[in-house]
Amino acid sequence: MSLDLDERQRAMLAEMNIPVWWPPTAAEAEVEAVAMVAPAASVPAASSPVAPESIAVSAQPARAAGLKHSEDQVAPTLQPRPTGIDTMDWPALQAAVAGCRACKLCEGRHNTVFGVGPAAPAPGLAPQVDWLIVGEAPGENEDLAGEPFVGQAGKLLDNMLRAVGLDRHSNAFIANVIKCRPPGNRNPEPEEVAQCEPYLRRQIELLQPKIILAMGRFAVNALLQATVPEVHKLPLGKLRGQPHQYRGVPVVATYHPAYLLRNLPDKAKAWADLCLALEVLQRAA
Ligand code: SF4
Repeated sequence: MSLDLDERQRAMLAEMNIPVWWPPTAAEAEVEAVAMVAPAASVPAASSPVAPESIAVSAQPARAAGLKHSEDQVAPTLQPRPTGIDTMDWPALQAAVAGCRACKLCEGRHNTVFGVGPAAPAPGLAPQVDWLIVGEAPGENEDLAGEPFVGQAGKLLDNMLRAVGLDRHSNAFIANVIKCRPPGNRNPEPEEVAQCEPYLRRQIELLQPKIILAMGRFAVNALLQATVPEVHKLPLGKLRGQPHQYRGVPVVATYHPAYLLRNLPDKAKAWADLCLALEVLQRAA
């Protein structure tokens, strides 16, 4: 006997706390399959035009996990990151990110979000900026626009930056830890952060900023994990108020603009962080 329930009926049963099993939808099955694929499996080198740098996410079809799939379902087609990221120039790095399929976030993106800043002074060079702003990952608007910090959070960030004489198109570069949008704006997973990290590292090497403003938990964790022991266990509030270091560049930790939109009283703290970053920069000069 088949039990053919529509969404409304399922919701009603769930509301009444009556458990009913039904076969997973195609989307549910896909999510389950991706979650169950062993994370350490490797991809044959022949599947990619470039040699693998490292692989942390399996490209094996979900069928390998013993799950039943309809024939038209397609598992993520992942490829190794390009080799030589740490010697790429700016245009090569941009191209590498644009074509990257090293983690499953490539599947749902409309655009990669490399970052935004002033034009480079000459072909092959990175933009010249003192300030680098680092956020977490693109949201829906950023994914569609291919640019970080658009929408309301972006307006707030622009206003904050303008207050200290900064502008994303003239003297500050804005980037994210993760270059592709996590579906449903979920938090990036550790293997996604690990796969994407070399791109941000190379961006920082090429930009040579004099100060980095790390906005939000993930940016702070990613940038300070090598210098602040157990940084992920520390509340963001404890990391504010003092400059930290990322490969010799001072880092000031602050709140993400999206958080500030929901927590207006903390805007004053974010302003204090921005002033601290300015002070650190002026002291260094
Ligand atoms: S999130 Fe980063 S590592 Fe993953 S596909 Fe996008 S660019 Fe590549």
